[in-house]
Amino acid sequence: MFEAYLPIEVIREIEDHFSEQGGKKLEAMGLLAGRVCEYKGERYVIVDEYLTGSLKASSVSVKFNDEALGLIAGKIGGRMIVGWVHSHPGYGCFMSSTDIKTQKSYFSSDFNIAGVFDPTRSEEGEMLKRFYRLEGNGYREISFAVFK
Ligand SMILES: [Zn+2]
Repeated sequence: MFEAYLPIEVIREIEDHFSEQGGKKLEAMGLLAGRVCEYKGERYVIVDEYLTGSLKASSVSVKFNDEALGLIAGKIGGRMIVGWVHSHPGYGCFMSSTDIKTQKSYFSSDFNIAGVFDPTRSEEGEMLKRFYRLEGNGYREISFAVFK
């Protein structure tokens, strides 16, 4: 069992968004809507959708502008937000202290995931990406599967 499952279409959508912003040397982010499931007491998430909007971004920070947040809130409807993703163009995958603070503030459920992608780096022909969850005072990398 993996701790997160993501459809290939969603991964490509995120990668396209991050590459486009990364080309302008900007970070990008979005929310992940999906489902929380349980198997033998272990919780895992299945992502269904990537939700994003216009962003206030620089090369080292990103946040939604108010308009985008409203748009995303509108799109959320009955969906459950299982986590978020953002990019680190050119500086690899890890959770910064700001990322951990964001995770603790908005995504503090045990099942919530945080994805970090580096659109300038690749691994086995794919954009470099890692998924994390909070653990103790820090975070740990989780396993994930991409499905068709
Ligand atoms: Zn970050």
